[in-house]
Amino acid sequence: MQCTCGGAFDLFDAAENGCEACCMRFLAEAGKTRDDVQFDGWHDRRHRTALMVAANYGHAGCVRVLAEKEAGMQDEYRNTALMAAAQKGHPECVKILAPLEKGLKNNDGWTALYFSMLPELSRDCAELLWKHPEERYTFRLAEIRAKLGTSPVSCKEGTCPGASGLVDAVTLGCPQCAEKFLSEAGRRDGRGMSCLMYVAKWGCADLVKVLLEKEKGLRDANGHNARWHAAAECKGILAKAEECSCKDLFEAAESGCEEGCRKFASEAGKTRDGVHIINLADAGARTALMVAAFNGHAGCVRLLADKEAGKRDGIGVTALMSAALKGHLECVKILAPLEKGMADRGGRKAKYYASQLHRQDCCDYLSRFPEEEEAPRNVFYNW
Ligand SMILES: [Zn+2]
Ligand SMILES: [Zn+2]
Ligand SMILES: [Zn+2]
Repeated sequence: MQCTCGGAFDLFDAAENGCEACCMRFLAEAGKTRDDVQFDGWHDRRHRTALMVAANYGHAGCVRVLAEKEAGMQDEYRNTALMAAAQKGHPECVKILAPLEKGLKNNDGWTALYFSMLPELSRDCAELLWKHPEERYTFRLAEIRAKLGTSPVSCKEGTCPGASGLVDAVTLGCPQCAEKFLSEAGRRDGRGMSCLMYVAKWGCADLVKVLLEKEKGLRDANGHNARWHAAAECKGILAKAEECSCKDLFEAAESGCEEGCRKFASEAGKTRDGVHIINLADAGARTALMVAAFNGHAGCVRLLADKEAGKRDGIGVTALMSAALKGHLECVKILAPLEKGMADRGGRKAKYYASQLHRQDCCDYLSRFPEEEEAPRNVFYNW
């Protein structure tokens, strides 16, 4: 095997370089941990291995070489190489490591499956990990399940391991176990959030149905009900049971509340400063349509588009660009005919935004509009 890195100076260096030949050359060092290894997005922890480094960077060849020696090792916080691969979205590495490290949990009780949705779902990794039942006993499993569109954990009469109460049953995403502990319904956490609010927010329709009768109508510390928190797939179920609690059009747009968008329709056209859209610095002059588009609430986008399409915020960003940035194809489809070809102050168009985060389906869709082709950058503006 040939060195591909110009010569690593130790095993950690070889793992970082992704050089299999050098990993083989320093294999005697396997099993040693180091305290100064940092990955972006991960807290600084001691006792990391070269395998974790290779997995973090997605160097499957090195992972294969090192797995035999170092699989199963956990850092100071009990994070594993499999967790690193899952979080960074490297399915090749997950495939190698899952049989060896499945079911391991860190100090927070998170398995690699949980990591696969931080900060956004790595679908390929999550699907590989879902196949191992040991991975499924972790927090926010209900949410992962809803995102993957998989069927409930099969459970015989409320017997999931670890489900010893309603909160556990709900985090494990098991409707049968939740049913069994329904007498505990109505409890709230420090922010006033009920189980129903959480499962609504995560988009777990089956759990919403189980909890609805017992917990409908509750409000959190900010006065929001489950319907306000609900993801699109649960809005319909809750709409019949709970009233709209939106205070204004921006709140309706953010929470995806179509009834609120209708109720406050007369506010359309107003812009607001200080509206927080993640990834996009506060630029001022944002519309409710931009907020709805950014959050992927196609129903609200549809209601607001004819009143607010064509506007730009303080840096020239449009609703179409924010939908493209987040990969919300349905919103892109509604907005593209209305805002195609518009550019921000740096000359960037919606298609550019979609390409930045590899939103392939949005890119493909926008490609059908010649107006979205990249124009020469406007050199007089800097972002
Ligand atoms: Zn090398
Ligand atoms: Zn169960
Ligand atoms: Zn509302």
